[in-house]
Amino acid sequence: SSGSDENDVVIIGGGPGGYVAAIKASQLGLKTTCIEKRGALGGTCLNVGCIPSKALLHSSHMYHEAKHSFANHGIKVSSVEVDLPAMLAQKDNAVKNLTRGIEGLFKKNKVTYVKGYGKFISPNEVSVETIDGGNTIVKGKHIIVATGSDVKSLPGITIDEKKIVSSTGALSLSEVPKKLIVIGAGYIGLEMGSVWGRLGSEVTVVEFAGDIVPSMDGEIRKQFQRSLEKQKMKFMLKTKVVSVDSSSDGVKLTVEPAEGGEQSILEADVVLVSAGRTPFTSGLDLEKIGVETDKAGRILVNDRFLSNVPGVYAIGDVIPGPMLAHKAEEDGVACVEFIAGKHGHVDYDKVPGVVYTHPEVASVGKTEEQLKKEGVSYRVGKFPFMANSRAKAIDNAEGLVKILADKETDKILGVHIMAPNAGELIHEAVLAINYDASSEDIARVCHAHPTMSEALKEAAMATYDKPIHI
Ligand code: FAD
Repeated sequence: SSGSDENDVVIIGGGPGGYVAAIKASQLGLKTTCIEKRGALGGTCLNVGCIPSKALLHSSHMYHEAKHSFANHGIKVSSVEVDLPAMLAQKDNAVKNLTRGIEGLFKKNKVTYVKGYGKFISPNEVSVETIDGGNTIVKGKHIIVATGSDVKSLPGITIDEKKIVSSTGALSLSEVPKKLIVIGAGYIGLEMGSVWGRLGSEVTVVEFAGDIVPSMDGEIRKQFQRSLEKQKMKFMLKTKVVSVDSSSDGVKLTVEPAEGGEQSILEADVVLVSAGRTPFTSGLDLEKIGVETDKAGRILVNDRFLSNVPGVYAIGDVIPGPMLAHKAEEDGVACVEFIAGKHGHVDYDKVPGVVYTHPEVASVGKTEEQLKKEGVSYRVGKFPFMANSRAKAIDNAEGLVKILADKETDKILGVHIMAPNAGELIHEAVLAINYDASSEDIARVCHAHPTMSEALKEAAMATYDKPIHI
């Protein structure tokens, strides 16, 4: 097999980090092999993460709109029902087509694809137990670890993916649970909670910390939480899960206040554990070749993505930094550019983050809390979608744009958007931040009317001067 020929680059893991690195490496003229154990490319993101969750978010949103918003727009429907198997099939189909698409891209770019579980024998040799039961050794001058992350459970909780599920199980429930408890108010918990809430579940989110989505700007978070509460999502913050009992029909959750106190029992049909993700390096034999990891198990790399072992690199969720697919992709491209003797760079302070609920929340750069902590003097410019003509025209005017800019120079430091399409709107701000733009730069750019993007222009005007429409 071609697996035993010497490669320039061998990549372990075919997620957004690994597969993008593989394609880019080949494009740069490097002989490349990618090893993936799952039997399908695209990693967590495509198989059990970003893509299936967005499919279900969209389907459940359409159902919810048909049920609750069509009438406002003068559309009468006599009966709206969920066909869950069909909804899940749509999602599975999207995933299947996309994974096949990446296999096609591998062929087109002449990336060798080895299906199997890889582990290090030496810094330039990987032994692969192939999916078809064989074993092969893949050699490479440079080896990139792109093995991603895995679901993290909590002490005393065993995930069975039926009644006590991770995000993976929550993407394929066989029926809509009457009561769903979500442990953890991060973006994954809120997205999956939204899906099932829209389809009819009573959703309660239990969170140890005092706030939902800790990385979010506080002012935006408050409005966001209020919006989710209006959608009937319940929150139990500062609450600790003591134990989970699934021996009877449903699930019983014993909780107590985070700072201690009286225990109480919550009942649910399904419990979703979304308490974070952990780097996945098991079975890789990193210790054998002496690759250094931190306390959380993440591989430590320098700014060229090189570990402490020459020739061994790491990218994506398995190294420190935001655990996001687009960050993994950027890592992958920069890493192979370095290997090819070029230069690459990823600025983790300029990676956008999006929560794909309704409305969406998207942000880039600093929050107000971060700027206060860093002692930076800043100005705030805000514009509500209530004053945006397009948002009013379509009766979808919840949310706002908030811009934080340096008080002296007007340079944009952070942008936070809550809007139905915030995940798309944010990129103008991402570009602006990458070009060190000022708020006046955005304000003086002509924006098409009527668009939601005009709210960004108006918020920019509000940052250094006055907006027009409020
Ligand atoms: P992964 O995608 O985890 O890929 C690693 C791959 O390596 C896996 O396929 C694994 O099978 C393989 N592998 C591991 N060990 C070995 C081995 N020894 N040999 C061979 N193969 C191996 N991010 C976003 O940016 N946007 C989103 O909307 C979003 N939504 C998400 C929703 C959910 C429910 C979840 C769980 C995650 C979501 N994420 C999202 C996060 C995103 O999925 C990850 O940040 C991203 O997948 C990381 O990419 P990666 O390439 O580093 O690792």
